[in-house]
Amino acid sequence: MTKIILKAKNIVKTYTEGKVKTDVLKNVNLDIYEGELTAIIGKSGSGKSTLMHILGTLDTADSGQILFNDLDLTRLSASKKAQFRNSNLGFVYQFHHLLGDFTVKENVMMPLLIGNVPKSEADKRACEYLEKVGLSHRLNYLTTEISGGERQRVAIARALVHKPDLILADEPTGNLDAHNANEIFTLFTNLVREEKLSVVMVTHDNQLAALCDRTYVMKDGVIDSNEL
Ligand code: ADP
Ligand code: MG
Repeated sequence: MTKIILKAKNIVKTYTEGKVKTDVLKNVNLDIYEGELTAIIGKSGSGKSTLMHILGTLDTADSGQILFNDLDLTRLSASKKAQFRNSNLGFVYQFHHLLGDFTVKENVMMPLLIGNVPKSEADKRACEYLEKVGLSHRLNYLTTEISGGERQRVAIARALVHKPDLILADEPTGNLDAHNANEIFTLFTNLVREEKLSVVMVTHDNQLAALCDRTYVMKDGVIDSNEL
């Protein structure tokens, strides 16, 4: 039986703005299996990004638990959470969130340097991952000097370079045209499968979701079904 790497139990999250309360996550239960590509789909505003932030310890739930293997992430202190993220998680966003004042290579070296990998080793590994995403010819470009598709490639290299156990990707192709989206999706899925990583990916594209191993649908604050 496949092992569960990440488990969300009874996750509740409400946003309050002035007098308006929005119950975004009402009772989310979710199992992410090791070595699988899991897609989360659902309408805009259904709470997918909120859930991803909570799964990645970037935001806290009002109640419920997030278990990584058997570690309850919701009980960790802020500094332990940061440490946990640096060593176990990789993030890819719709808008790449790359650092514009730095080169492509420096952006990919960043998670390694934060993890105290020596600079020469970080340089070597960044180059290796940039080769995997087809960007060996862009190492010393600023991220403001390359195309949108290339920026997502850099973001993917940066998310994978420190060999995390779990990748959280929130609409990684959402900002690209159809051609680039398909190309980046294929590159991303090939890489994560090659490296046997576990992935949770939010997408609004049912065709891409259908290529994943498992699909969950967010609706009305719960995981509604696993049928497309
Ligand atoms: P999705 O990613 O599925 O489009 P989100 O998780 O971004 O959905 O948002 C879900 C709901 O929560 C939306 O109604 C959104 O307006 C609201 N929301 C998200 N973040 C905040 C916030 N920081 N403060 C208040 N409301 C928020
Ligand atoms: Mg979103």
